[in-house]
Amino acid sequence: MPRSGHTPERTCISCGLKFPKRGLIRIVRTPAGQIAADPTGKRPGRGSYLCSSAECWQKGVFKGGLERGLKAPLSAQERIILLEFYQERQPRTGNQEQATKNRQPRTGNYEINQRI
Ligand SMILES: [Zn+2]
Repeated sequence: MPRSGHTPERTCISCGLKFPKRGLIRIVRTPAGQIAADPTGKRPGRGSYLCSSAECWQKGVFKGGLERGLKAPLSAQERIILLEFYQERQPRTGNQEQATKNRQPRTGNYEINQRI
């Protein structure tokens, strides 16, 4: 399908790239001042978006990206909750393109996985 300009796009606050809205996760600061992931994208409040890259979540959560985007400080607990949210939605099996990109059987014969 050609681009019709109709797809809503949002910018990841960490890498600055644009993605279709549903490829991003919205983080919301609710009117009550709570910061939480908003997978529905519909919660009221100020929102910032992160793409699905682990690096972007690390940066956004720990390097101040979200705090700038949401104009609010993140508590230690909120940071943990956000990262847990991210990890929860990562598929454990199957789609492993980002994790195991460079598995080279040649190098590293000393990669012995000892099971205890
Ligand atoms: Zn990103």
